[in-house]
Amino acid sequence: MNTNPQARFRAKIWVFSVCLLLLFSLLIAPQALQSDIGHRSQPVKGFTYDFDRWPYPIHAEVNARLQELAKQYPNIARTILIGKTREGRDMMVMEITNKETGSGTSKPAVWLDANIHAGEITGRLYMTYLIERLIFEYGKNPDVTRLVDTRAFYVLPVFDADGGERILTRHPAWPGYNPKEQPGKDLDGDGYITQIRVKDASREGGYRYYLESDEVIRGRAQTDFMNRRSRNELTGEREGEDFNRNWSAEWLPEEPGAGPYPFSLPELRHVADFLTTTHKNVFFVYSIHSGGGQHEGRSYFVRPLMDHPYEKMQHEDNDFYVRAGAIWSYLSAGNVIENNYYSFLFNTSEEDEEGNQKGYGPTMAGFMSDFIYSHVGLHCILPEISGSGIDYDKDGYYTIPELERWAREEMGDKIYSPWKPYDHPILGKVEIGGSRGIPPALGDRAKFDCEAQYDWILYVANLSPLLRIKNVTADPTSDGKIKVVATIRNDGCLSRYVTRNAIKIRRDYPVLAKINVTGAKLVDSEPIKNIGHLLGTWSYIRYWIEGQDRSTKTAEWTLEPAGSGSIEVTVEVQSHKGGTDKKTITFKK
Ligand SMILES: [Zn+2]
Repeated sequence: MNTNPQARFRAKIWVFSVCLLLLFSLLIAPQALQSDIGHRSQPVKGFTYDFDRWPYPIHAEVNARLQELAKQYPNIARTILIGKTREGRDMMVMEITNKETGSGTSKPAVWLDANIHAGEITGRLYMTYLIERLIFEYGKNPDVTRLVDTRAFYVLPVFDADGGERILTRHPAWPGYNPKEQPGKDLDGDGYITQIRVKDASREGGYRYYLESDEVIRGRAQTDFMNRRSRNELTGEREGEDFNRNWSAEWLPEEPGAGPYPFSLPELRHVADFLTTTHKNVFFVYSIHSGGGQHEGRSYFVRPLMDHPYEKMQHEDNDFYVRAGAIWSYLSAGNVIENNYYSFLFNTSEEDEEGNQKGYGPTMAGFMSDFIYSHVGLHCILPEISGSGIDYDKDGYYTIPELERWAREEMGDKIYSPWKPYDHPILGKVEIGGSRGIPPALGDRAKFDCEAQYDWILYVANLSPLLRIKNVTADPTSDGKIKVVATIRNDGCLSRYVTRNAIKIRRDYPVLAKINVTGAKLVDSEPIKNIGHLLGTWSYIRYWIEGQDRSTKTAEWTLEPAGSGSIEVTVEVQSHKGGTDKKTITFKK
């Protein structure tokens, strides 16, 4: 047996790791293997949501619903008007928190927004789901109740309200829809501009797709019909301004969509003002896109830094994405968190054999996620989520044939035209048909994504720093005074500064402990003390080995009794992203 203490320690760690691995493989791995649908929680009984609603509600309808909920549940919900869009629409944020346990700004908070890209309208579906379910489950699901009591949620379901409105009211399902205003041409005269497909054995699915037109306009798979093209139409109208290229982080004038200068879009300024100035309690930002998950039914979450290797991020900050990413993967049956540095490491001038641009290139500048992390010091995720249909063979993938079957069998001719042969002036013998604008997210698949995201967002809300006063003591000193000691602890997983980058860029606001005394007077010290950093459980484990606990700090004051009667001492601790707490003790002189 080895008597060297260091070797013994290493052996213990080794045995511990093996045990942990065994436990993991026994408990988790078998489930993961048999899982093809992820590990989502089930909503509390009685909760309903219309996953088949198409077209999605327009902006005014979303806002009306928020106001209705705020009126119905005034104890936990209220609307906040953060500004107007360029066309004068209200940017309405839903705040969800229990008012009886403190105002929203006195608690750590999560910010969620959707439809930042006009054509990526799926987000309003996911965000209205989250709002409805959080409110419904409050008081019924103990985890949700605890979170709404101790955290705040701010939700902006429609970020680009003007653009989103144009997209939705342009869809064939809306009254007033006119195919003449759309790009492409209705060649077969069925009243819809759909797609052209040409047999191509080299392609997945066996076809190449084009937009229905007498020209050759290259299309992606038919599911893209609604999403991407609509967004391009929008940027055509708003020459050069893209809501996710106009943030100040690494902003470049030559970036497509950059706009004339950073924050030229007022909508962005309203949100930035909220996150940096009026609501410094926000620690995590989640902004939904729907560019991913269309072909194989996989979604991915974009993380900062967009354009740099992970090594450029501080280790403690990078840890957040690694750990939270593993949970996302577990909940969603294998979806991932990535940045685009590794995914799209291509030269923009490079093209494949068909002339398609290979990737975004090494520079994608002016992103919201990089602004939030680099300039505000918060964590941020931009999920790329969209998907419709039914996973008929239950393999966890929503494939194009499954999408077509779903559109045909479940949706009738509302969104899908059967393929018919056609003689095209340039392409020759082709088929015309496919999507009349397949909703980007609908049905079973939308339900899956709503539920998986809901669980993940609650999981992240749980990670926040959470400051609590563990106790306040008052003891007499030998010179007839009283020493008051308050012990303050961070019960959260994240450190109180949230990101190490926040310290670096001086967005790390101090934790203040404040004393209020009656029946005695404060001597030799200030009533307010800056108590510095309080680490979270994720970052102070290494200190345990040294026998230190960096999650706990104390604040001390000296009192001198004054007058008769008892003494009352109230200590209040305040921090922007770790919440506030208060404790009062009363004692005799
Ligand atoms: Zn987008």
